[in-house]
Amino acid sequence: MSELAIDKIDVFRVELPYSGGVYTLSGGREYRSFDATIVRITTDNGLEGWGESTPFGSTYIASHAFGVRAGIAEIAPRLLGRDPRRVDRINDAMDQALLGHEHAKTALDVACWDIFGKAVGMPVCDLLGGRTDARMPVISSIYMGDPEDMRRRVAEHRARGYIGHSVKIGGDPAEDAARIAASLADKRPGEFFIVDANGGMSVETALRMLRLLPHGLDFVLEAPCATWRECLSLRRRTDVPIIFDELALSDASIVQLIADDAAEGIGLKISKNGGLTRGRRHRDICLAAGYTVSVQETTGSDIAFAAIVHLGQTVPERQLRCLLECRDMVSLKTADGAFGVEAGHVRAPNGPGLGVTPRLDVLGAPVASYQR
Ligand SMILES: [Mg+2]
Repeated sequence: MSELAIDKIDVFRVELPYSGGVYTLSGGREYRSFDATIVRITTDNGLEGWGESTPFGSTYIASHAFGVRAGIAEIAPRLLGRDPRRVDRINDAMDQALLGHEHAKTALDVACWDIFGKAVGMPVCDLLGGRTDARMPVISSIYMGDPEDMRRRVAEHRARGYIGHSVKIGGDPAEDAARIAASLADKRPGEFFIVDANGGMSVETALRMLRLLPHGLDFVLEAPCATWRECLSLRRRTDVPIIFDELALSDASIVQLIADDAAEGIGLKISKNGGLTRGRRHRDICLAAGYTVSVQETTGSDIAFAAIVHLGQTVPERQLRCLLECRDMVSLKTADGAFGVEAGHVRAPNGPGLGVTPRLDVLGAPVASYQR
């Protein structure tokens, strides 16, 4: 194998407006736009790889947009001259440059996978283990609001072909029960519902809410409480399937999840988990545990969605819950590619790398560059 070396790393910043006006989450959190960091890595033979890391504001998990770019400033000089195809060794170098801060490593890691694919003429999903035949369902993201308004927004997505819905709750127990009942009121055969509290409930409010629900509603409960202890406590007292998201962040937390028999699956968000290299490992641990996996992002634009699609395409259909159509949440397009969603489903393209062509006019001039 002839050597390939990283010559240059450019960092771009793009403000992605939320497509629905104001996005509301448990705990009074509101979001109007998302600050995206997009990275271009250029090799000595002229290959370009792209990656994105877009935190969901600064109060979703312990990550924020300025932190992404500050982290990249710590890491990028240490990657110059390295072969981007040796993705595990790239991650070793990133860990040696900066402990933690997975969201900062993600854009760099994904850009290396993009180059790897272009260098060998294969799509990233095939490098990650090989594509399945699955047409992958995408989920909507139904922000917390008035129950009947949530029901209407679920119906809008259903009309567009969505069979999966992520319904946000996490306020008052009675209102949450009403939100769930309304969102599921028109449920069709084959549809699935993820009820996501984003850590916004206490054990007490969660138990009260579950008691107020009509019997027999079919959903999984995602991220009910903010802490590990609370989630475990709730789990011991309910038979509702539980999915971890904000607390499933690392190799160690996912292994602990299995050791504690704490859940039925995870939301695998690529930037939360540190990129495709770590995401691949988390996928495999989850598959071995028999978990259901939703491949998602903390949000993001077209480049983030491309990474979701490629990783998702490698999860066997039986254990793949869904993908997050993060592009739905933002009103700006940062790249083109063959990632069309048809009747609520998507497949990874066959071209080399991620298969994205960034819109350079949208990205503008780099806000930082690191060069050999
Ligand atoms: Mg979630």
